[in-house]
Amino acid sequence: MERLVIVGTGAAGFTAAIYSARANLEPLVIAGDVLGGQLTTTTDVENYPGFEAGVFGADLMEKMQKQAERFGTRIQYDYVESCELKPGGPHKLHLRGGDTIECRALIIATGASPRKLDIPSEKALENKGVSYCAVCDGAFFRDVPICVVGGGDSAMEEAHFLTKFGSKVYLIHRRDEFRASRIMIDRALKNPKIEVVYNSVVEEVLDVSKDKVTGVKVRNVLTEKVSTIECGALFMAIGHNPNTAPFAPHLETDSANYILLKQESTRTSVDGVFAAGDCADHVYRQAITAAGMGCRAALDAERWLEAQE
Ligand code: NAP
Repeated sequence: MERLVIVGTGAAGFTAAIYSARANLEPLVIAGDVLGGQLTTTTDVENYPGFEAGVFGADLMEKMQKQAERFGTRIQYDYVESCELKPGGPHKLHLRGGDTIECRALIIATGASPRKLDIPSEKALENKGVSYCAVCDGAFFRDVPICVVGGGDSAMEEAHFLTKFGSKVYLIHRRDEFRASRIMIDRALKNPKIEVVYNSVVEEVLDVSKDKVTGVKVRNVLTEKVSTIECGALFMAIGHNPNTAPFAPHLETDSANYILLKQESTRTSVDGVFAAGDCADHVYRQAITAAGMGCRAALDAERWLEAQE
């Protein structure tokens, strides 16, 4: 029986591992499919404190992994497919590789994945002008037109934020009504650098042959007219999906399957199960906030185990 298992190897998971390993809990971390989490899919990270010249996302996660391993964290390269959670534990995790792991305390730090358009050119130009995080990558696209896709609060916020850098921001939305809150819509629409392209969907990101974004081909869904918008970057802001499928049936979640936490803690609705990072936070979604939650989850789990034992 493991004392503490952490599922996920993003900023939340590795920070939870660093803290709990230093507390001699000898955590076992289940790596998941993307070792290092979302930061490994971005390039330079310029807003993580302590790296004045920025740090390559994958390098930052490698440092976190080594720091966790230095204090005795064990990593199992497998994926949780399903689980049985019992208030007070033990909890059972069924892994893709066939193992079943039992643990007293569990920290879920499985992150979230940005929704994608799922068109081939989007995939081909990811990190070459196609980005899923304006805060992370906006500053790389100065004085060029930028396109943002989406009609929710994220799209409004990101379009507004990106006007700091881009010469102009095109906000492409598939309908003529926004899902975003009134205040966010008003702020975006008042911004003279934002032009909304209504009732339109991105058909293709240009130009795969040049290995960088030079524009997007959009189709108006009402008129079927296809036109090209020249731009240097395309930011997708069409929402995220929390990676909570194996756990959501057993825990209280919101309607979008983000794990709900008890106030002022990282405790979930099942005693002995904690959650940290983007799987339980759709608001902030930053590496540093995920790391902070990972730290809190490790402290909560440590105190919970002490009280149990
Ligand atoms: P969201 O509310 O789910 O909005 C996603 C948007 O993307 C919708 O407008 C949707 O269009 C569009 N979309 C989805 N799939 C698409 C596709 N395949 N192609 C084109 N468009 C697509 O996601 P979000 O904006 O990330 O917000 C998530 C949550 O975080 C919300 O609760 C939001 O309020 C919150 N949030 C709050 C703030 C803030 O208060 N500062 C900032 C950001 C986010 P349809 O409308 O047509 O479905």
